[in-house]
Amino acid sequence: MKPAPLKAEVKKAFKKLLKQKGKQRHIEQLAVELHHEVFAVTDCLACANCCKSIPPIVTGQDARRIAKYLGMKEGDFADTYLRVDEDGDQVMKATPCPFLDEQNYCNIYEVRPKACAEYPHTDMRDFCKHASLHLRNAQLCPAAASIVNRIVEQCP
Ligand code: SF4
Ligand code: SF4
Repeated sequence: MKPAPLKAEVKKAFKKLLKQKGKQRHIEQLAVELHHEVFAVTDCLACANCCKSIPPIVTGQDARRIAKYLGMKEGDFADTYLRVDEDGDQVMKATPCPFLDEQNYCNIYEVRPKACAEYPHTDMRDFCKHASLHLRNAQLCPAAASIVNRIVEQCP
């Protein structure tokens, strides 16, 4: 299920907070703490919104690793599963992701794309430089929404 939409005042406050140079260090530390706290109690297997809706970027390195794991030639893997999107990035061709099974497990979990392993990027370096990304992810990912809400609540 998608998270409740963020309130307009939360979005506004979040964007404003992330622009305040004097608070950025604190917010980046807080985001990492909240990321671990929130994901400790988040059941991604009950959600899988990201795998169902966002075609992840698949780098050349990802593609080589996954193709090897599947016992496929890299070219055949690319032809079967990948496309180039409007930004020029190589991404999974289909959504929901073809590697998502009916129980929401990833069939290539050990070798999944880096973008999947890092989603929703709430523990990323330079968290404050990516307010739009976090707000976009919070529309889909309940964990990201919770982290955004809690940053706004906890930062005066
Ligand atoms: S990362 Fe977010 S969107 Fe993806 S499964 Fe977990 S809670 Fe859901
Ligand atoms: S590769 Fe795995 S983790 Fe990534 S979108 Fe597909 S099912 Fe989800």
